Amino acid sequence: MPAKRRLPLKACVKCKALVEDSVDVCPVCGSREFTDDWDGFVAVIDPEKSEAAKLLSLKQKGAYSVKVR
Ligand SMILES: [Zn+2]
Repeated sequence: MPAKRRLPLKACVKCKALVEDSVDVCPVCGSREFTDDWDGFVAVIDPEKSEAAKLLSLKQKGAYSVKVR
């Protein structure tokens, strides 16, 4: 069984949060729009101190994709 994706995750179109494929509603922004077409990965532990979080305007901790197409 060949793996199609690197990770069984999809990205929220609105806020870029990464969630498991089985999740229907984004836990961060409540959106129901997801895409499998994302790239990059950033884990935000402390949004107040993370440079990556500032760059990407992320307010909550969690896993995010860097780019959503
Ligand atoms: Zn979201």
